[in-house]
Amino acid sequence: MTTGKINVSVENIFPLIKKFLYSDHEIFLRELVSNATDATLKLKHLTNIGEAKVEYGNPIIEIKIDKENKRIHIIDQGIGMTADEVEKYINQVAFSGAEEFLEKYKDSAKDSGIIGHFGLGFYSAFMVANKVEIITKSFKDEPAVHWTCDGSPEFTLVPHSKTERGTEIILNIAEDSLEFLEDYKIRELLTKYNKFMPVPIKFGTRTETIPVPEGAAEDVKPETKEVDNIINNPNPAWTKQPSDLTDEDYKNFYRELYPMNFEDPLFNIHLNVDYPFNLTGILYFPKLSSDLQIQKDKIQLYQNQVFVTDNVEGIVPEFLMMLKGVVDSPDIPLNVSRSYLQADGNVKKISNYITRKVSDKLKSLFNENREDFEKKWNDIKIVLEYGMLSEPKFYEKAGDFVLYPTTDEKYFTLSELKEAIAPIQTDKNGKLVVLYASNKDAQHSYIDIAKAKGYQVLLLDSPIVSHLIQKLEADNENLVFSRVDADHIDKLIQKEENQISKLSDEEKEKLKVSIEAVVPKENYTVQMEALDSTSAPFIITQPEFMRRMKEMSATGGGGMFGMGNFPDM
Ligand code: ADP
Ligand code: MG
Repeated sequence: MTTGKINVSVENIFPLIKKFLYSDHEIFLRELVSNATDATLKLKHLTNIGEAKVEYGNPIIEIKIDKENKRIHIIDQGIGMTADEVEKYINQVAFSGAEEFLEKYKDSAKDSGIIGHFGLGFYSAFMVANKVEIITKSFKDEPAVHWTCDGSPEFTLVPHSKTERGTEIILNIAEDSLEFLEDYKIRELLTKYNKFMPVPIKFGTRTETIPVPEGAAEDVKPETKEVDNIINNPNPAWTKQPSDLTDEDYKNFYRELYPMNFEDPLFNIHLNVDYPFNLTGILYFPKLSSDLQIQKDKIQLYQNQVFVTDNVEGIVPEFLMMLKGVVDSPDIPLNVSRSYLQADGNVKKISNYITRKVSDKLKSLFNENREDFEKKWNDIKIVLEYGMLSEPKFYEKAGDFVLYPTTDEKYFTLSELKEAIAPIQTDKNGKLVVLYASNKDAQHSYIDIAKAKGYQVLLLDSPIVSHLIQKLEADNENLVFSRVDADHIDKLIQKEENQISKLSDEEKEKLKVSIEAVVPKENYTVQMEALDSTSAPFIITQPEFMRRMKEMSATGGGGMFGMGNFPDM
């Protein structure tokens, strides 16, 4: 037997890294701006703890396009690198200086916001550039160096005359990536990935108007000046303490997040936890509107203020996907497959935490101002009802705030409802019968009959309502739901004495025959007894279970929510 070591040469692996590390070429800019941000935050940290004896000042990061020479420059004023550090951090592929820094300054730097951790981000530059240069001067008193590499494993490293502290990355853009030399393209990428990064990012300049001083003569024209065009907000709302934010601040942040959405959110939930995982964020309940924009605006996932994705599947519980806002966590693994995410213990905990925060918020809104909560009910019910069906942890809490509105806009919790109907809405088995309508107009005569009898009629009109009813019946043994036009209702309503019809027996028989000619007998029952409480001369009902069968299969059947069979009716 022979054993040995497989030889992986850099020549083989380098093109692989270039091609397959990231599927999206555009993320090169995110990676390089992240490195520039890390370099700046590291300097901040070292000056804070007194290890770097330099003036931190107000560093910015600048992105410049040089169309003529087909170059992009990314310039920072961070810690920079010495020649030795370039050797170590750049020439050793997959050695993360960010990780090393965090390890070294473990306790003091844990909240520093440093982003990198794979030691591969820098090489994403080669996805769009055929030659990459680094000109860098360390904050330590050492000469600047100039590193050049054309994507082969060979590089050059020579002294450079740069005197100011920091790093400039120069990308010589490859022919197949020339789109990245367009202003609009870079602006689009910066807005997408770097909009809330913690160090100001300059991209070009803009003209600012200086307001005319008060009391100035009429003909004084306002002056203008060129100022740095800073594309990001380094201190987004979610990084602040809830106690430092007003309602208006939350709304403003919503507008900042979704500039094309003109509808204010209903309320927000500020997420903030640091054990057993780290997570901040703000979720918003949107006003449901027909506006298509609202569906385009999704929850955004950030890592230390760097945009990662707006696909939060697996991280945010499914029923909350309709919400808006931001989740920021360094503890969510990046650049890994979704199936891996689902198996990750932290991720499951994050999802449970979000569910709990949302139910806590709903409960407190309900307790603090029930009237207002009732007003919002129509806009939030779909999310909540779906949550009850899909998330057992949410279902457990739902009794505290989920409402059941009646056709005349009274709102009951489930326990209030049971209490209200207990005196008169019971069937012959002693079960409580919850009457409901799904369409106020179409079922108005049935609703009137029931109301005249003093019964409560709920208005349950969400598309998933039959699933919800099924679940409520399964979990509340003494409860049975019956739509107002179902045959079940006559067990309550029609078995009463003294029902007088205005029609003669002969007329009734004739009418019945002609109705049954158009209404299939096996699905419906036609009753000719008029009801004293209404002017309806007859009533057509359908067995509750038959209609539900149809509805459930129309909305995906019991399988969708993994629910059991129909109870015997
Ligand atoms: P990571 O960010 O995950 O550590 P990268 O491949 O993105 O890995 O970068 C490798 C290392 O190179 C960084 O950790 C850092 O030490 C160094 N580096 C990259 N860009 C800069 C920069 N702009 N200023 C200073 N150091 C940098
Ligand atoms: Mg990096």
